[in-house]
Amino acid sequence: MQLPITGGCFCGSVRYEVDQQPFGQANCHCRSCQHATGGAYAPVMLVPTRAFNISGSYSEYVSKGDSGHEVSRAFCGQCGTTIFAHTTRVKGMRPVYAVTLDHPEQFSPELDAWLDFAQPWVCLDPALPKYKRDLPAEAAGLPPPAHRR
Ligand SMILES: [Zn+2]
Ligand SMILES: [Zn+2]
Repeated sequence: MQLPITGGCFCGSVRYEVDQQPFGQANCHCRSCQHATGGAYAPVMLVPTRAFNISGSYSEYVSKGDSGHEVSRAFCGQCGTTIFAHTTRVKGMRPVYAVTLDHPEQFSPELDAWLDFAQPWVCLDPALPKYKRDLPAEAAGLPPPAHRR
């Protein structure tokens, strides 16, 4: 993707800039993303935390994700747009909701995750790799599991 990647909420009071390439790009079908976005699934860019710079004030809602880990979702208190999340599982990565990009057409999903929770009425791209639960470690910026090294 072209750097810096920029975006923000609907009303413009929260803005962000990402100055490194995302680890991955995914469609997340988990229930909490469905609730947070009001959509059938959430297209997310998985960006390095150290490269994610946010300005403006936002609120956070913390819940237990389908992974069993705490997930905090950040949203604009004025317009309600969900902007990014962070999880206690992966501290070095922030899922950023791709619809908040200034150029959302830049987003290009590489996989579908949490398909166990996908709605039966959603259309899926058969060309994308599918994961019943969490996405592979590499897409989240984590080292691959030891048995595959
Ligand atoms: Zn806003
Ligand atoms: Zn999700």
